[in-house]
Amino acid sequence: MNVPLLDLKAQYATIKDEIDAAVAAVFESQYFILGPAVESCEKAVAAYCGSDHAVGVSSGTDALLICLMAEGIGHGDEVITSPYTFFATGGSIARTGAVPVFVDICPTTYNLCPNKIEEKITGKTRAIMPVHLYGQCAHMDPILELAAKHNLLVIEDAAQAIGASYRGRRAGSMGDYGCFSFFPSKNLGGAGDGGMVTTSDPNKAERLRDFRNHGMNPKYFHHSIGGNFRLDALQAAVVEVKLRHLDAWSEARKKNADRYRALFTDRKLGDKVSLPEEKEDRHIYNQFVIRVPQRDKLVAYLKQEGIGCEIYYPVPLHLQECFAYLGYKPGDLPNSEQAADETLALPIYPELTDAQAEAVVETVAEFLEKI
Ligand SMILES: *Cc1c(COP(=O)(O)O)cnc(C)c1O
Repeated sequence: MNVPLLDLKAQYATIKDEIDAAVAAVFESQYFILGPAVESCEKAVAAYCGSDHAVGVSSGTDALLICLMAEGIGHGDEVITSPYTFFATGGSIARTGAVPVFVDICPTTYNLCPNKIEEKITGKTRAIMPVHLYGQCAHMDPILELAAKHNLLVIEDAAQAIGASYRGRRAGSMGDYGCFSFFPSKNLGGAGDGGMVTTSDPNKAERLRDFRNHGMNPKYFHHSIGGNFRLDALQAAVVEVKLRHLDAWSEARKKNADRYRALFTDRKLGDKVSLPEEKEDRHIYNQFVIRVPQRDKLVAYLKQEGIGCEIYYPVPLHLQECFAYLGYKPGDLPNSEQAADETLALPIYPELTDAQAEAVVETVAEFLEKI
């Protein structure tokens, strides 16, 4: 049986009429840049995320970048973040001229380890950028306490975590800023690139709105050097339609995770496979990531058998070639390095069927029983 890692065609089939109507309405209006569709989407996302304001931007990457730019973070500054994430997290910090300072992750959650942060705080540190990886929130309370104690900003990279919660609060509503991505493979994906920043500070929201439009306010008067980081109306229209389905999709992902747990337990693979840690807090399973022995051979076997899987991420940021100038060596952040060597993501998308989930576990079991 072929099981893709993600099946966006299956999803589109269930909402085609709504999407097509929303896209047609934008064409009828011929209002493509910002405007009413973007404002309406911003209101809906802010409410969903439990923030007072949301500012639509051109991508998740630009969401991170614009927060740093709006705070004037750059040369001479340091920003603490996780090395075990998509490149954009560290890349956006470095692009401002600031130094990304990588702190290791917890081996069970794959998120920034709060106990290791304080020793990395210096007089140059301006912000902490925790990542809510795979759809599970980082352990935010100690991070927020440290930030308050040292007067640092908290910029949440919530690109994989829209709708996830931590002790009753939603991802993106806990720090000064929450950054979201509408890349099509995210849980709330557009029909191209897009992103959003949430904040409950009206001054920060206003600054972001200026910065996404060349620091311009009023028209042709530039008080800051921003950029073109605007969200397209077409993307906003698609995202707003899909937001209405997001909770149902997140529930389906959770059901798939529960089914995987039951299937792995039935096959008595508990000692060979580490499954994602379960907590009270809402996990939205952007990815279902397991840790296994002989990971690379298992990946090759799954691909040969038609089972989609992916390694997120094979090289932690502190060991990326482009960050060699930062001077990290292998062994510096061992939990991240081990996770990069031992984990893989299995299909968890909402439309995954029972038979497909069984085929995935069966194929993993076949491999593991042989080694
Ligand atoms: C996807 C992602 C981003 C970047 O989002 P884009 O919309 O692709 O620019 C940033 N951080 C994390 C953790 C992501 O998963």
